[in-house]
Amino acid sequence: MSSIDLHCHTSMSDGALRPAEVVSRAIERNLSHLAITDHDCISGIEEAKMTADGKIEIIPGSELSTTFNNTQIHIVGLFLDCSCQKLQDFIKGQFEKRIQRAVRIGEKLEKAGFANAYERTKAQATEGAIITRGNYARFIYSLGKASSVDDAFNYYLKKGRPAYVNTIWPDIREAVEVIHEAGGVAVLAHPRRYTLTNTKLRSLLEYFKQCGGESIEVASCQQRPCDREYLNSLCEKYGFLASCGSDFHYIGTWRDLGLHIDLPQNANPVWLAPQAKDYHFPL
Ligand code: AMP
Ligand code: MN
Ligand code: MN
Ligand code: MN
Repeated sequence: MSSIDLHCHTSMSDGALRPAEVVSRAIERNLSHLAITDHDCISGIEEAKMTADGKIEIIPGSELSTTFNNTQIHIVGLFLDCSCQKLQDFIKGQFEKRIQRAVRIGEKLEKAGFANAYERTKAQATEGAIITRGNYARFIYSLGKASSVDDAFNYYLKKGRPAYVNTIWPDIREAVEVIHEAGGVAVLAHPRRYTLTNTKLRSLLEYFKQCGGESIEVASCQQRPCDREYLNSLCEKYGFLASCGSDFHYIGTWRDLGLHIDLPQNANPVWLAPQAKDYHFPL
């Protein structure tokens, strides 16, 4: 168990629990630090901070969607100043893009037999939440039309499936720039989940580095131990700091806050970055 978890979702994007419930769970699990990193959204952070009540450090973050060589790549911003106007403008642009996309996914799901898919998925979400494919996957599963959320995703929503909508997100450079404008650190999320060959992964890391990215997730959930060692070695090669995050979305068997995300002993953790100095990390 790690007491530091730097990647999770609340019901302000595709997490099942409200920000207050996520924070309460983190406190119960004895976490010392939790970053709230909803997809293209910072609106859960206020509630999270209010619930913390001095029992846990809440790190303001967001998981920004970008496109690199036709692949959707997630860049997590940590230690963000949420009052930054440029960050707020960027998030607003992403929100608008996501509404248009969610409506189009809904239209495609209608053709696949899910009447009023957008409205009904929205009705299941918290008010003002970002509607992601994760929300649609849970909606389909809730109707008993798939045997798991993963199956719903794989059958209807991923590339090549009936309700897939191709979206061009901003370039990685734009996401890194806006994170820096907001005083944050840019972290490449779950590098092993993009199903890139090692050569393509290294090209991605080189580009991310050129753009000013500082860190990659070395420890994320559902990862093989050899991945962690490999990613840690890439940190050394490219000069990245190592981050750890569960990518918690809902209570399940394999994923939980702080679970299975310990960094290797010789890792240089992301909280060594100067931007982390006010968050009382262990040194
Ligand atoms: P989006 O940002 O709208 O493209 O949605 C991406 C989200 O869908 C991810 O953050 C995950 O929460 C979820 N997701 C991605 N792949 C899968 C999968 N294979 N099974 C279930 N959910 C997934
Ligand atoms: Mn998600
Ligand atoms: Mn992600
Ligand atoms: Mn995530």
